[in-house]
Amino acid sequence: MAFIADRLSRIKPSPTIAVTTKAAELKAAGVDVIGLGAGEPDFDTPDNIKDAAKAALDAGKTKYTPVAGTPELRKAIVAKFKRENDLEYTIDEITVGCGGKQTLFNALFATLNPGDEVIIPAPYWVSYPDMTLMAEGVPVVVECQEENDFKITASELEAAITPKTKWVVLNSPSNPTGAAYSRAELRAIADVLLKHENVWVMSDDMYEHLVYDGFEFTTIAQVEPKLKSRTLTCNGVSKSYAMTGWRLGYAAGPVELIKAINKVQSQSSTHTSSISQAASVEALNGPQDFLKERAEVFKERRDLVVKAMNECEGLTCKKPEGAFYVYPSCAGTIGKKTPDGKVIETDTDFVTYLLEAEGVAAVQGSAFGLAPYFRISYATSTEALTEACARIKRACAALK
Ligand code: PLP
Repeated sequence: MAFIADRLSRIKPSPTIAVTTKAAELKAAGVDVIGLGAGEPDFDTPDNIKDAAKAALDAGKTKYTPVAGTPELRKAIVAKFKRENDLEYTIDEITVGCGGKQTLFNALFATLNPGDEVIIPAPYWVSYPDMTLMAEGVPVVVECQEENDFKITASELEAAITPKTKWVVLNSPSNPTGAAYSRAELRAIADVLLKHENVWVMSDDMYEHLVYDGFEFTTIAQVEPKLKSRTLTCNGVSKSYAMTGWRLGYAAGPVELIKAINKVQSQSSTHTSSISQAASVEALNGPQDFLKERAEVFKERRDLVVKAMNECEGLTCKKPEGAFYVYPSCAGTIGKKTPDGKVIETDTDFVTYLLEAEGVAAVQGSAFGLAPYFRISYATSTEALTEACARIKRACAALK
């Protein structure tokens, strides 16, 4: 009898974490590697947030908090939704977890029965299908087209809905493509969902503040208030506030769902760190000006990378609205030979070649459910990005 549970055979470890770990190992071994795999800002957590954490420690806020999060934090989250998204929630419609990842996991675990379907537009954030599988659900992956900027269309959504559909996951701006849904695109999706009363929406808005060129961020419950009673609006401080290590995410939705999520959490992590919660109150209630300043830096880096990728032989790259990722196609390199005589057959071969030949770590598109592409995270210094782009260009030119 195997000791490890069967359910683990359904899932795989996160491929993005695997690439980041491999790049870190190579670096530690003295190899000159530029990591473009990590999904985390290179900026530090702002000082006012760190100070709030220090003050919380000194004030002895070191004990258990309510499972759903401290009342102060949930009040700050209610105020955030009102201020930024024009959404009215009450404090008992809010839950706080150990990162956005845990909140999403808890929601799926709390709601999926075996065989329930979750519609996941591809390319997708790597964790949605595996979380669904862990919760005994069935991921229904809808491959989105590059011509549609990798976004699911109303008709593709309509075609994917079945009587077993429980959730559709929307992630805007997207990891891995950076594409964001406009109000009109969300309106069209909402019109489909209004016809299917049993389908719930998981709106993953983790990259809300990372939008460029004046793009207006909107979320589905705001676009169609009638969907609010079956939407879980998910967000967190990790990306916007450069707080990945603090492990704090949150979600808002109907009380019955939030209670179910809290029940799962009460028997697993109980809650995230009391200090992270105190810091996040300051993140949400404190000065917000730096968000725009940082977004401006990310926009410049996006422009730099998109331009450079379009100058590489065999690559083409769309310019997305947000997040800190681009998703170039490497279709034009497939079938070509590396200087060592290896044929590039897949996007995995291509990123392996980039790592081995030039020490650039990126993630293959097949990990995100749409090939042949690769994901570049430009959340790294402009200097490192410039060097990485030069190396990718050289690697592409060396393919015959
Ligand atoms: N959702 C998306 C789309 C993400 O890219 C990530 C992190 O990479 C998360 C959720 C989870 O964020 P957290 O670090 O808060 O768990």
